[in-house]
This record gives sequence, C-alpha cells and structure tokens, in this order.
Amino acid sequence: MKTQIVEVSAIPLEKSLQKTFQGGTYRITSRYTLVTQVRLANGVVGQTFGGDEEKYQKEIAALINGHFGEKLRGQDVFDVERHWQAMFECKCLDQANRGIHTLDLANKAILMQAIAAVDIAVWDAMGKALELPLYKMLGGYRDEVPVIAIGGYYESGKAEKDLACELLSYKEAGLSGIKLKVGGLTPAEDADRVRFARETVGKDFLIACDANQAWTVDQALEFCRRVLGYNVRWFEEPVQWFDQLQGLALVRKYGGLPVVAGQGEISRFGCRDLLLAGAVDILNFDATIGGGITEWRRVAAMAGMCHVKMGHHEEPQVAIHLLASVPHGLYVEIFPDRQRDPMWFELPVGRPKIAHGRMVVPQEPGLGMPLRAEVIEQYRASEVPV
Ligand SMILES: [Mg+2]
Repeated sequence: MKTQIVEVSAIPLEKSLQKTFQGGTYRITSRYTLVTQVRLANGVVGQTFGGDEEKYQKEIAALINGHFGEKLRGQDVFDVERHWQAMFECKCLDQANRGIHTLDLANKAILMQAIAAVDIAVWDAMGKALELPLYKMLGGYRDEVPVIAIGGYYESGKAEKDLACELLSYKEAGLSGIKLKVGGLTPAEDADRVRFARETVGKDFLIACDANQAWTVDQALEFCRRVLGYNVRWFEEPVQWFDQLQGLALVRKYGGLPVVAGQGEISRFGCRDLLLAGAVDILNFDATIGGGITEWRRVAAMAGMCHVKMGHHEEPQVAIHLLASVPHGLYVEIFPDRQRDPMWFELPVGRPKIAHGRMVVPQEPGLGMPLRAEVIEQYRASEVPV
C-alpha cells in the first residue's frame, strides 16, 4: 500500500530569546516548538511544527517516537479518525486521577499535545498524497484570511513613543490590526494604553485586548466600561483561571465586548462546556495543544451551531488553513517581532504572503510550508528522546 505509514518521529526545538516578553500574567524568555514527521511508503513526508511547550516537550516527543509510532506504523494514512482514536485511547501514559492535579493534569496535556502533533502531520501527509492544499481538503471556504499582530507587550523602559512605533510598524507591514496585551496594570492604566493605541492607529485598524486571565470579574468589567469608546474588537481571557465558565459569562453579559477564550482547553469537551455556559463569542481553541486538526474541526462544528465564531491561538502555519476552511473563521495571528517568534521566521522555507490586511493561504499541497532541515538541526534540543 503506497500510503502506508512507515515512520513517525518528533524532534523538540528550543531557542533562547534575546529579550523578555511580558504579558498580563507571564514572561517569555525562550521559544520552543516540536517538529513532527509522518513518512509514507510512497516517499511522501507529512511534516509540521507547533506548540510552545516549555516543561514537557521531551515527554511529548518520547510518546510520539515510542508508543504512537508503534500504533501507526503499517496503517493507511487516510484512516485519520482511527489513528486519532487509537492515540486517544492509548494507555501508555498514566491517566489516573488521584486528586493531585500537578500529576493528574500534566499527562493529559502531554497526551493531547502529542496527538495534536501527529494528527497535523498526518493531515499534511494526506494533502501531499492527494496534491491538495490542506484548507481545500477541509472545505476551502476562503483563499485569504485577515491577519493581526500579537504585540503591545510590557517591557521595562518601554515608553509611549516605543508603543506608537510598534503599532505603526504593524500597519506598515500590511496587517489588519493588533491584539494588545493588557492585564499587567490596573484596568484604568491599561484602558489608557488602549486609548493611546486607538489614537495612534486611527479608526480603521483593529484593536483587540488579551488579559491572559489576569483580572477578577469586577476588574474586567471596569476595563470594559473604560474602553467602550475605543472600538475594541474583542476581550480575550479577561478573568482568572478558576472562573472560566460563569466568570466569562458575566463579563460577556455585562461588559459589552465580545469575549474570547478556548486556548487553554485541551479537548473538545472543555470547548463544549464554554459553549454551553454561554461564556464566549469567539473560541480560539488551538489545534497544536488540543488534539490537532481532527479535534479542531469537531469544535468548529459545534461552535457554528451555537453562533460562536472560530479563532485560533497563535500557530499561523496551521491556523491559516483551519480559519480558511470554515465560514465562521476569523483572524489568523502572528508575532511580527522576529525576536518573539524566531521559529516562524526561520523554520519554514517560505511564509505566506501578507498584503492589505490579509494572509494568502498557501496553495502547495498539505500545509504548504516545508521546513528547513538546517534550522531543525540548529535548534534541536540537547537531549533528544528516541
Ligand atoms: Mg490569548
């Protein structure tokens, strides 16, 4: 059988960043990603990169190189639901629940990220085998997707003129907007940054705000009141981690801004609960975290039935195809700062064209973004599981 899987492999990559990037609740000092390959008997190689996993990247790679490889070798690549279910039901990691969450949750997130990596590489291989771009295999709803920057990080010594420079550079680069970090200051101080951003970019540039779960419901609602005149497109992860259903629903009901969440979910079941709680206007479920393209499509189907739009957290190499494949897909997002996301700038042989606020979907088979072998070697993490 020509499309039989003969090899599955994963390589963790790591690169220290030249500066620290600070959001509402975190600091980023390194960029991690995982390169995953699925090789077929006919010589086709499905290949992807994804994730930014700091702690368990090597465990994820070990699972792919070991148990998942054993399960998939000899199977037809096109039996994608069967591969997904076999990986999901894998008993190779301890999935016990002892009420010790550091132990209980970690293995579940490792499992879902490992499934994600293999599933995306499988879809890339299927696209290459059929000589079809991935978004066409998934439905082909649009050929271009509006694109925004993730930026506005907090940096020590960053003055208003630096923020203005940053914002205007995104406009000049042909992006359609910015997702600005908030939540690191008081609601009043961050609302003032939004005012400044709006005055800087003018009325036709999208501004969204992402608090990364920094605030209480009251603080989030105060922020909403203070930015109501500045045309904020959405408010992402406004409230703290422990109140992700009713807390979000309250902000959505009383804040007057569309609410986004979902990037923290690792399966369709968590997304289902957000939808049933009326907690979101947009789901930004991340295929590289939560089970891959197969799982993202299931979530997108339910979101459509709930009149909720689909976004995607980071990972433009995959997000562009997913968001182009459904009618309710919204913005693809990138880090235009090369220092923040060197993998995006260095790993692919080429990147999709961006002009007039839109990213053009790659037309080559699969993901349409082959990776540079020398960059994989350059950033290969020191201990590589086999
Ligand atoms: Mg976010």
